[in-house]
Formats: sequence, C-alpha cells, structure tokens
Amino acid sequence: MTEQGFTTGVLHSDRREPEQHRAVHRPMYTSVAYAYADPEDLIKVFQGEMSGYVYGRQGTPTSSALEAKLNLMEQGVATACFSTGMAALAATFLALLRAGDHVVSSAFMFGNTNSLFATLCNLGCEVTFVDATDRAELEQALRSTTRMVFVETIANPCTQVADLAGIGALCAARGVLYVVDNTLTSPYLFRPAQVQAGLVVNSLSKYIGGHGNALGGSVTDTGRFDWRSFPNIAEQYRGKDARLWGITQIRKKGLRDMGATLQAESAHRLASGAETLALRMDRICQNAATLAQYLSTHRAIERVYYPGLEQHPQHRRARELFAAYGGLLGIELRAGCDPLRFLKQLRVIICSSHLGDNRTLAIPVAQTIYWEMGPERRHSMGISDALIRLSIGIEDSEDLIKDCAEALAAASR
Ligand SMILES: *Cc1c(COP(=O)(O)O)cnc(C)c1O
Repeated sequence: MTEQGFTTGVLHSDRREPEQHRAVHRPMYTSVAYAYADPEDLIKVFQGEMSGYVYGRQGTPTSSALEAKLNLMEQGVATACFSTGMAALAATFLALLRAGDHVVSSAFMFGNTNSLFATLCNLGCEVTFVDATDRAELEQALRSTTRMVFVETIANPCTQVADLAGIGALCAARGVLYVVDNTLTSPYLFRPAQVQAGLVVNSLSKYIGGHGNALGGSVTDTGRFDWRSFPNIAEQYRGKDARLWGITQIRKKGLRDMGATLQAESAHRLASGAETLALRMDRICQNAATLAQYLSTHRAIERVYYPGLEQHPQHRRARELFAAYGGLLGIELRAGCDPLRFLKQLRVIICSSHLGDNRTLAIPVAQTIYWEMGPERRHSMGISDALIRLSIGIEDSEDLIKDCAEALAAASR
C-alpha cells in the first residue's frame, strides 16, 4: 500500500476487503450489541484471542474502517479513534500517566489542551512548559521522572514551529515517550513518525474531516517507542506484541472505561471528508500563502504570523519538515484599525472559533479561546488583544483578498 500515492491509498485502501452488497462505502454500523451464536466465540473475543466486536462503546466496524484509513495516512502500527480530538488527548494522558509523573510540554498550544494539563496537575502530575522551538530549553526541563514530551507541529495562534526533529532525537536518546499533536499540519503535510514521535494525535474535526460537520479524534502509535521501557503499562495489556501495549491501554481506558466513543455516523462523515484531504490542503495552503503575502504588506497590519513567510523565525525549519505551511494565519492589526470592526465588516470570512474548515474563519483570540488563560499567560505567549486568527479555507483567493481589503479599509476609518 505504501507505494501508492496519498490520495489513492485513502480512496482505495478499504476496498480490499469484501463488503456487503458490493457497497463501495463502508456501511454505517449503528448497532450497540453484537450477537454470538457460539458463546465460546464471545469468550475468545473478550479474552483477545479472536478479533470481533462486543459492545458499541469499544468500537464498531465503522470506527475500525476509519482507524485503518488514519493508520495508513500516518503510516502507523495501530490507530484508535475517539469522539473528539480532546477525547483522544485526554485518553492518551489519563491512560498513560500516573501521579508523580512529569510531563514537558510546549508552552505554545491549543488552549483546551493547556486546560487539560491543569486537570492532570490536580491529579498529581507535574507539567513544565517550555519554548519548544528551542531544543536546549526543552532538554533542560527533562527529569528522571519525565514520562512524556508533548508538542504541536504548528502552534496556535502565533504559528511557532517546534524543533520537532531535534526534540525527537532527544526523546529517542533519553527513552522518553514523544507525543505530537499533528492537527495543524495533518498527515498530508507532515508525518511525525519521521521525527521519531511515538504517538501522533489528530483532531479529525479539523482538516481531516474538513467540512465542519463531524467531531472526532485519533491516536496513532508509530511503532517508534519501545513500550517495554515504559513502567505504566498494566500487566493485562502486555500482550505478545509489545508494539501494541500503549495503544491497547489507551483504547481500553479511553473507550471502554471512559466512554469517549466515536459515533458511527461521525466516523462515516470523517472518512468521506478524508478522501479529499490532499486536494483541500493544497488549495488551503496556496490560499494561505497568497493571503499572508498580501496582508504582510498591508498598512493596517502590524504583523502576520505564517510559517510560509521568509521573515517567520522558523521558516527554514517549516520548509524542511512540512510539504507546505498550513492554513493558519495570525494577524495583528495596527492601533488605528479596530479588530472587532474588522470582523463585523467581513462578508465572506466567517467569525467562528473552529479551524480547518472548507470555509475561511476568523476569531479574535485574546477575548475568546485564550480568555481563560488570563493576561499574563497570554502576554508570555505573545497573544495581543489585536491578534486575529484566520483559518484559511478553499474559497477563491481573490474573494478572500477582496473581503480582507474592504474590511480593513472600513475598520481603519
Ligand atoms: C481543535 C484542536 C484540538 C481538539 O480537537 P477537538 O476535535 O475540537 O476536540 C486539539 N489540538 C489542536 C491543535 C486543535 O486545533
């Protein structure tokens, strides 16, 4: 399968197995229960000796089909899907960490993940936040109790690019589990396995689904981490194949025990959306680059954060690591240009907190998604009150430029 192109694989990988009535799409299995004529078979499934389904909370053939597709995209060993990206992150952290464990995380990240780390601290974990664009700073934070290093590929909203390869080499040398949130790049632009990440998390609600009509999340084990060196795997999940220890525990805890199950209907929508990931991403990245270039010379704009711009501090790193620079832009408006008036004047671009949609979305970040963090943390993250995050979609680029130009002019008056 690996010799086929990205999109061919996504479109045709799940047609290798026979389906009912020659259906090209996988059917949506909404059944909660699974029946066994022979109780011996049910026992074998429960005891892991036979593959099969027992109860919808633990997964369905529909979520399995999506898992296989994502596993192919990330070239992983195994993938587990969850109800949301946050559920995938929570399942990963709660399944693998124990009280007394230490985590090193990038300080630049998705706001809800930051809040989730606060929950982990309440449960007895310790988290150190570092500037992950700087490998040396991250290395300094490592302790003997560090069980996990966590980074995002492109950070929200100022688009910092972590030293993904340097941190990967460091984690490999120290035997620390390296978890990468690949949501902003998606497996089409970047595969964290190539920088030795052990686990890759994707929010499927964003680029992979793409249409803003379904929530989902996934965790992929890349096979790069040796779970035999990880002390927090319970005896019952240490099966014959040690590569599956981590994902088995994440799946059992996250799905079976916590119930963060992906609905079959969502899995189906996400799988359909994933078919066009490469096409959408090409267009999104092209639009984002065009808009970043335009806005970076606009007199109402103080600053544009976009890894594709040569003046971006990690532009070279992004060029080396990613197939393109993604669809997220941060723009800081000049003093004379009112951010809220700018947003009100937009006619095409939608004011919304989502990202990775087909439609271009804009949000004032300090007042919304980073509000709970408080002014000090926002300041340390470089988030000003005039910062607007744009998530670029697949519209015609001329329309996006015209929309921005007219709204900036109106807001500057
Ligand atoms: C949106 C997002 C998440 C959470 O995903 P949901 O599907 O919305 O729960 C996690 N990480 C990043 C980087 C995100 O952008």
